Amino acid sequence: MCPLVPLIAVPWLAVQNPQAAVGDADQVLSRFCRQYLEADFSMRPLEATRLGDHRFDQRVDDLSAARAAEALRQHQQFLEKELLPRASGEWRIGKEKFAKKFELELAVGMTADQAFAEAEAEFQRVTRDMYVLARQLWSSYFPKRPLPPDDAAGRRETLRGVLGEIARDHAKPQTLVREARGTVAKLKRFITDKEILPLPAPDRCQIVEMPAVQRGNSVADLRCAPPLDPETSSFYNISPPPKEWPPERVASFVEEYNRRMLQILTIHEAYPGHYVQLAYANRQPSLIRRIFGSGVYCEGWAVYCEQMMLDEGYGGGDMALRLTGLKFYLRAVANAILDYKMHCADLSDDEALRFLTEEAFQGEGEARLKIIRAKQSSVQLSSYFVGRMAFMRLRQQVQRELGDTFDLGRFHQAVLEQGSVPVKYLPELVLMKLRGRERHEP
Ligand SMILES: [Zn+2]
Repeated sequence: MCPLVPLIAVPWLAVQNPQAAVGDADQVLSRFCRQYLEADFSMRPLEATRLGDHRFDQRVDDLSAARAAEALRQHQQFLEKELLPRASGEWRIGKEKFAKKFELELAVGMTADQAFAEAEAEFQRVTRDMYVLARQLWSSYFPKRPLPPDDAAGRRETLRGVLGEIARDHAKPQTLVREARGTVAKLKRFITDKEILPLPAPDRCQIVEMPAVQRGNSVADLRCAPPLDPETSSFYNISPPPKEWPPERVASFVEEYNRRMLQILTIHEAYPGHYVQLAYANRQPSLIRRIFGSGVYCEGWAVYCEQMMLDEGYGGGDMALRLTGLKFYLRAVANAILDYKMHCADLSDDEALRFLTEEAFQGEGEARLKIIRAKQSSVQLSSYFVGRMAFMRLRQQVQRELGDTFDLGRFHQAVLEQGSVPVKYLPELVLMKLRGRERHEP
């Protein structure tokens, strides 16, 4: 759908029907979208096709591409020639605005200060857990070397050494896609056998090599079917390193995304992370819930799954997989700390780089990109951590309340069937669903 539709539709809805209940608003929005698309096929030929009119497909494709290219060129010119010379503002948005934006945009039911305090405590806990695992793995990787001293520098050395050895077990660039397919098959079997949740049927996720233009940032990502076109395919993209990269860069890429990391990433991006969640969300009867999804919900669910799957036995107790999972999760916690400290305190670039590379075990290239992202955005980087904490708290609350009648698969299904709602409403909605309805297959 054209990204402008929600922007136009919201004020339009408010003016048209200020008293509308959610159900009414859904119908109004649905009608509006259809009218909008019928009136302007040139925005998205796919929707025109879906509405049954194929006459303009080719012309509209060409026209849209030419218009988009021209608009982008003009925008770039505006940024370089007009905006840059008069840009003198401060990129740090400051404590007050950050707190307000955090409350309104993330809608997690806690303040920015509370989330920051939780992130700092979680950072210590996760680092400690990682060290305990690394200490146990040390002798199998370094049988002839005694464990480094149990002080801050020695603990870091232990962790670095063990993580480095785990990274050596990686796919070749040309086998990445095949290995990802194998991981997906294994994960799906595990989810079904252990009744983690009912998987979407039919499965519309294709595992493909990432288009060249998107490569170089991450080894994998997910492109989900859009909410208004839910029956088209979703793509779990796997990226071999770009062909033009020098051998050292290729080596560090495949080591970072080693065999174990690829499994954690596939849990996060696809099964039962983003793909499964968004496939459920796309079946939400409410168009509003489908279109205005909460990013905190999506990322929180995916990060929650990383730990939940291992807790349920995926990986057969492999400590190296658990350590890799924690390393990946530490990124999410570090993101939240970085976000807050960049915008609410005066964290310098050098301090940020030291924090990410020395304490959060990130490579320098990745850390530098993260610092740029922290400056260009605000509160978004916190969404992974606060979302995951919300899902953990929700699980604890529901499990305590239901006691022996708690059923993990049924709980997950009740969570996903809500669609990507703001997480502060989840406890009420999920408990209502679990108390009021019988389980049914999707
Ligand atoms: Zn994600």
